[in-house]
Amino acid sequence: MVDVCEANLPYHASKVAAGLVNPLIGPKLNPPTDLDECLTEINNFTNYFQQICGVQFYEPIPLFRVFKTQKQSDLWKKRSITYPDLCVQQKILDQKEAAHHHINAPYGVGVTNCTRLHISSFLAYSEHLLKEADHWITGLNAYEEKNYDKIIFCEGFRVMYNPWFSNIPIAPVRGEILGVDSSLDTSVSNGTWAIPIADNHFLAGSTWDHKVIEAGPSAEGKAQILKALDFISVDTKKVSKQFSGVRTGTLDRNPILGCHQENKKFYIFNGFGSRGSTTIPLYAKQMVEYVLNCTPLPTRVDMTRFNKLNHLAQ
Ligand SMILES: Cc1cc2nc3c(=O)[nH]c(=O)nc-3n(C[C@H](O)[C@H](O)[C@H](O)COP(=O)(O)OP(=O)(O)OC[C@H]3O[C@@H](n4cnc5c(N)ncnc54)[C@H](O)[C@@H]3O)c2cc1C
Repeated sequence: MVDVCEANLPYHASKVAAGLVNPLIGPKLNPPTDLDECLTEINNFTNYFQQICGVQFYEPIPLFRVFKTQKQSDLWKKRSITYPDLCVQQKILDQKEAAHHHINAPYGVGVTNCTRLHISSFLAYSEHLLKEADHWITGLNAYEEKNYDKIIFCEGFRVMYNPWFSNIPIAPVRGEILGVDSSLDTSVSNGTWAIPIADNHFLAGSTWDHKVIEAGPSAEGKAQILKALDFISVDTKKVSKQFSGVRTGTLDRNPILGCHQENKKFYIFNGFGSRGSTTIPLYAKQMVEYVLNCTPLPTRVDMTRFNKLNHLAQ
C-alpha cells in the first residue's frame, strides 16, 4: 500500500512549470546523455495513461528554435543530421520564412521535435485517483502520524529543511513565468521560450535567480522575460499572470536518488532541476525497482556519489 502526503506549500516547481521536453538543450543544442531512455519511458507513461483514462498527458509539439548566432545555426544543422528523429526537418527557416510565423530571427530557425507534459492536468488527475482510493493525505509531514515501512521524500527544494537529507548539496534556482492574453502562432524559444496554451493565451519564461529563493513574482522577473522575448512581438498590457517557483538544481545537474545511510526506512527522490518533465518517468521507474527489488541505481543519480563530499564537510 502506498499513500501520497502533500502539504501544498508555496513556490514549488511543478505548479508553475511549463512541462517542456526539449531534446536539444543549452546554447550548444546537445541532447542530454539520458535522452533515449527518458523518451522511451515518456512513451510508456503516455501509452499507460492513454489506456487507463484516454488522456494523452504528454503532447508532441514542434518547437521553433531561434538561433542567436550563425555558429548556433551551423551547430543545429549538424545536430539535425546526427539526430534526424529530434528534428521536424533538416531545413533551417531563413529570416524571411521565420517572419511568416511572426518570428524575428536574423540567424534563422530550426524546428525541433519537442513534447509538452500537461503538468497541472496530470497532477489533478493523480490527486483525484489517489483521493478516490483513499491514498491521499493532505498536510505537512503527515507521514509522521502513520507507521509506514518506507518513506520516499519527494520534497523539491524543501529537502534542505529535512533533517535526514539536509546535507545533500542542492543548488535551488527560482524561476518566473508570465501568462499573456494574446495568440501565438507556434511554440518558440531561443533559450527564453513562449508556448501557446489556448487560442488567446501563451506562457513565457523563464528567469534564473540563485539568490532569492522563496519569493513570489517580481517586477524585475517580468521585465527580464519581456526583454528576452525580443524575437516575437508582445503587447506588455496583455500580461495577465505571473508565477514563481523553485527548481531543485544539483551540483552536477543529475537527479539525487537513494536511501539514507543509517536509517534505511528513508529514501530520497529529488534534484530534477529544470528537466523534471523529461527525466521523472525514467527515474521514478528506477526508484521503484530500487526500493522494491534493490536494483542498483545508475551511479550518476545515486546519492552515494556525494558521500566523499559529506565526509570532507564533517
Ligand atoms: C519556472 C520554472 C519553469 C520550469 N519549466 C520546466 C519545463 O519546461 N520542463 C521541465 O521538464 N521542467 C521544468 N521545470 C522544472 C520542473 O518543474 C521540476 O523539475 C519538477 O517539477 C520537480 O518536481 P518535484 O516533484 O521533484 O518537486 P516540486 O514540484 O517542487 O514538488 C515538491 C512537492 O513536495 C511538497 N512538499 C515539500 N515538503 C513537504 C513535506 N514536508 N510534507 C508534505 N509535502 C511536502 C510540496 O508541497 C510540493 O508539492 C521548471 C521549473 C520552474 C520553477
